[in-house]
Amino acid sequence: MKFVDEYRDAELGQVLAGEILAELDPGRHYKLMEICGGHTHSIYKYGIDDLLPANVELVHGPGCPVCVIPMGRVDDGIAVAHNDGVIFTCFGDMLRVPGSEYTLLDAKAQGADVRMVYSPLDALRIARENPEREVVFFAIGFETTAPSTALTLKRAKAEGITNFSCVCNHVTIVPPMRALLESPDLRLDGFIGPGHVCTVVGARPFQFIPADYGRPVVISGFEPLDILQSILMILRQLRAGRCEVENQYPRVVPQEGNLRALEVMAEVFELRPHFEWRGLGFISQSALRLSEAYREFDAEERFEVPGVRVADPKACQCGEVLKGVIKPWECKVFGTACTPEHAIGTCMVSPEGACAAYYNFGRFAREREAV
Ligand code: SF4
Repeated sequence: MKFVDEYRDAELGQVLAGEILAELDPGRHYKLMEICGGHTHSIYKYGIDDLLPANVELVHGPGCPVCVIPMGRVDDGIAVAHNDGVIFTCFGDMLRVPGSEYTLLDAKAQGADVRMVYSPLDALRIARENPEREVVFFAIGFETTAPSTALTLKRAKAEGITNFSCVCNHVTIVPPMRALLESPDLRLDGFIGPGHVCTVVGARPFQFIPADYGRPVVISGFEPLDILQSILMILRQLRAGRCEVENQYPRVVPQEGNLRALEVMAEVFELRPHFEWRGLGFISQSALRLSEAYREFDAEERFEVPGVRVADPKACQCGEVLKGVIKPWECKVFGTACTPEHAIGTCMVSPEGACAAYYNFGRFAREREAV
């Protein structure tokens, strides 16, 4: 497939692996974090970590939108879905994320009208088709998906659609990164930057990482050669004693981001004072809610939600996985009590979650190693 296959060329992958090896100080251990769940998925799917020398370790970051949703927010969604006359819409992954007692899929089995959609525009279409029903969209995601929610709400307002609202769980990537960098239990040498988020926000928001924390960032595409090249670029910076934000993904990421998308987001959203992240706790100004001009579409204003903080199950170590403190297979319930079919934690639900990615692809490599 044009524009895809050339980024999956195995021979070029071997060449890049050789260049990575040549760049290393053999006496040093390198710990690099890929921020985005999309990268985690590609790393395991294409066996990129198998191509890397033993002293280059990839650590998974908090950039999977489903994984960071805390149980209390799932409970809020379920409570809204149980209201008479409500059609509750969300992305497919969200259906299987456990709340404190059960999932949205269970709520559907109990009779709630919960429907999977592929985009917020699908939810708006359902609202148009069902003017006598209240249609609610459970919005999740980083700056990558927030513009589509914002544009949908603008359209709803322009069309005068009044039976549509949104539970807004959109989050922003910089505050959790800062929280991670402040964490004493994590030593990182550099970051593979989140290419999708950067298509919207550009490279500038990540300047604080080299400026304040002295770590290089390379914004990366998602194909295997993109990721290998990004790792090489980070190692080159480290070897040269440089520390900056570089863009490996200029075919998609403009330096300034998508100004139109940023403008629409600024119109429709405002920062929440604080928001709870799964495993990371409350982080100030790390999430979005609807601005005053769009408050009429805020489902949290329209319906009663419990709004209660719920502690993760004792066995769940998603927080440590999301902070890169442990690897998925180090969680005590990985692959036994927690599997994609019966997930205890969020990281096993979404394909972008580190546990699901590792369960689906990486465990085979470890099983081979063990033989
Ligand atoms: S195995 Fe399950 S409970 Fe453990 S960290 Fe992964 S998703 Fe969370």
